[in-house]
Amino acid sequence: MPFRDQLLTCETCGKKFVYRVEEQRLQQGMGVEIETPTKCPNCREPVDAAPGLRAGVVKWYRDDKHFGFITQSAGSDVFFHRSGVDGDINNYTEDTPVWYEVETTDRGLQAINIHLRE
Ligand SMILES: [Zn+2]
Repeated sequence: MPFRDQLLTCETCGKKFVYRVEEQRLQQGMGVEIETPTKCPNCREPVDAAPGLRAGVVKWYRDDKHFGFITQSAGSDVFFHRSGVDGDINNYTEDTPVWYEVETTDRGLQAINIHLRE
């Protein structure tokens, strides 16, 4: 079944939100059953129960600039720098599943302690 953006209504706050193709792909990539969310991202419980640790996939990484972005399972893309990556950066190509934590810097959110998710 091809993925399509879906316009849904949040059961908690009643606002409309889009269940994006990227999120659907991500769910599939995480090996979980694709479930249509009933709540908007703001009202949704954090997907990961473990405090701090989150699951996402590498959106892209620019080796010449030493930074990239991670597509989060909930929320918007988060910035990461080479220094926040554990191990060989060459393993972190597009769509690589990763675990990471998020910290707030003076320039916004940044993913740290990034490591490969088997
Ligand atoms: Zn809501």
